[in-house]
Amino acid sequence: MTKKKRNHNPNLIKEKHSYSFEEISEKLNVHIRTVQIWHKHGLNVIDEAKKPYLVYGVELKQFLKAKQQSQKHPLKTGEFFCTKCRCARKSRPENLTFEITRKKLGKTSKQALISGICEICSQPLLLFSSDRKVRELEMKGMLSAECKTTLYGNGDSSCNTDIERY
Ligand SMILES: [Zn+2]
Repeated sequence: MTKKKRNHNPNLIKEKHSYSFEEISEKLNVHIRTVQIWHKHGLNVIDEAKKPYLVYGVELKQFLKAKQQSQKHPLKTGEFFCTKCRCARKSRPENLTFEITRKKLGKTSKQALISGICEICSQPLLLFSSDRKVRELEMKGMLSAECKTTLYGNGDSSCNTDIERY
C-alpha cells in the first residue's frame, strides 16, 4: 500500500504535554490556520480565555483519532463520530452548519466540513465530507443553505491561500 494521503502522526504527541497551536502546527506539519480551524470545530483548549491557547496532548490525540475515524469508517448519512461518546451520533438539527472548502477531492468534488453539536453529550462534532455529500444532505432536507458558514468571508483575503493545505 502506498501512502498517498498525508496522515498526521498522533504518535508524535505526548499525552501529558500541552501544546501551543504553533507547536502543533510544527509537530504535525500542518498550517497553523488548520489548527485554528480544528479549534473552531471542536479541538478543546485548556483555557479559552487565555492566549496563546494551549491544548493537552491527550485532547489533540483524541481529536485526530476522531478525524481519522470519520475518514476511515464512513458514517451513515447525517451521522458524526463523537469523540466523547466514542461512537456515531447525530447532531442537534439546529446546530448543523457546513462549509465548502477550496480543497479538491478528486476531479469534481471539493472538501466540505460539516459541524454540529452531539445531541447526546453536546460535544462539538466535525465531519470531513464533500460538497456532493452536502448536496445529498440538502436534498434529504437534513441541511439547508442557511446552514452555510463562511470561514473566509470577513474581507481578510490573507487567509484564503491557506485552505489548500488543509
Ligand atoms: Zn456525544
